[in-house]
Amino acid sequence: MNKVICPKCHKEAPWVENKERYGKNYGKSYMCYFCRPCGTYVGCHNNTRKPLGEMADKETMEWRIKAHAVIDPLWRGGKMKREEVYRMLREKFGREIHIGESNVKMCEQIISFLAPSRHKNNPSNKKHR
Ligand SMILES: [Zn+2]
Repeated sequence: MNKVICPKCHKEAPWVENKERYGKNYGKSYMCYFCRPCGTYVGCHNNTRKPLGEMADKETMEWRIKAHAVIDPLWRGGKMKREEVYRMLREKFGREIHIGESNVKMCEQIISFLAPSRHKNNPSNKKHR
């Protein structure tokens, strides 16, 4: 069985419903690991005990939201495909990028890579060397 350890306090995080965090259950898959004292959190696959990546603290969660706020409009607007956006990131950083697994530093790098192009007319055709 999986053991999920909180990266902040190095204790085992309890497997709970996400109402522990939000006050009510969100989503179909509401089971998560949540370390209440630190606010460190990770969701699970379909209410199993399998965590979706590593546990993230509040700061990391906030940065992931910011990164999504930069990335998602690129493909939601229909100018680019989702795969193309992630391929750009892979080419830039030399590996597969998943926001849900990225730490603060990675999120910052993603944002500084993608955010300036938001102000240009056609980000998809702009080649970075
Ligand atoms: Zn903790």
